[in-house]
Amino acid sequence: MSLSFGTDLSGKVAVVTGAGGVLCGMFAKTIAEAGAKVAVLDLNEEAAGKVADEIVAAGGIAKAYKTNVLERASLEETHAKVLAELGPCDILINGAGGNNARANTTKEYFEIGDIEADTVSFFDLDQSGVEFVFNLNFIGTLLPTQIFAKDMVERKGCTILNVSSMNAFTPLTKIPAYSGAKAAISNFTQWLAVHFSKVGIRVNAMAPGFFVTKQNEKLLFNEDGTPTERTAKILAATPMERFGEAEELNGTLLYLLNNEASGFVTGVVIPVDGGFSAYSGV
Ligand code: NAD
Repeated sequence: MSLSFGTDLSGKVAVVTGAGGVLCGMFAKTIAEAGAKVAVLDLNEEAAGKVADEIVAAGGIAKAYKTNVLERASLEETHAKVLAELGPCDILINGAGGNNARANTTKEYFEIGDIEADTVSFFDLDQSGVEFVFNLNFIGTLLPTQIFAKDMVERKGCTILNVSSMNAFTPLTKIPAYSGAKAAISNFTQWLAVHFSKVGIRVNAMAPGFFVTKQNEKLLFNEDGTPTERTAKILAATPMERFGEAEELNGTLLYLLNNEASGFVTGVVIPVDGGFSAYSGV
């Protein structure tokens, strides 16, 4: 099946952060298949290069740029290169993000004795770990937007797509920082949509449910490949009783980027979750 459902993004320049990763690598390939020139940004140069190479091998136009979404200088350097090599940015996908084990509690519920126990309770959470996660997800969306959305002002049909998560609607146990940071992304998506509404830049987000990627595979599967207890809980809370396939985000991705399809849509966060966010558990 074609990844891009026949959507035409030719003539557009798309900048995708975190594009060396599983979900955003696929976003980059899908947008390239739809005809856009794609700037593949990632901290991991090799991963970004691989995605760009795959796009070029499939007949698309892409270039990889080693970029840290947390460093303004790195973003500015990449912006100058993208402008010279591909052109001004029409589409920005803020995909770089994720959690960090230093910002997690060991257990779901706090119990008497946990302060003394050899576990990470709420009281032991590492401030630097929490800051890392807030920065990666929130500042890592805000800074690229400051740098690349300037290209969009006074040009028509430009869009920004942020990546939120299920934990933004209702926090998941054990991951307070990641949940709070993604809630901030959903909130920022609405704020930015309103702020940019008079200059025609649409800003939306998708909120993926559970997809197996590099960042969560250790939480979801044991070393021998068997599912963890958390996987059992996730699947029990997902009415469709399975993980999502990355390709299943494509329809929402293309809908939100396509001005003909979603020209009056701005400030929304669309769940793609097999029913997770609709299900009360009863
Ligand atoms: P991933 O780990 O495969 O990809 C994340 C990419 O971001 C990696 O290639 C990494 O090198 C890059 N990155 C990390 N820090 C960076 C930095 N400072 N600057 C530039 N790049 C950096 O993870 P993924 O699951 O594909 O995640 C993509 C997005 O989707 C993230 O925002 C994540 O929070 C979100 N998300 C994932 C799921 C899921 O189930 N996998 C669910 C909801 C939301």
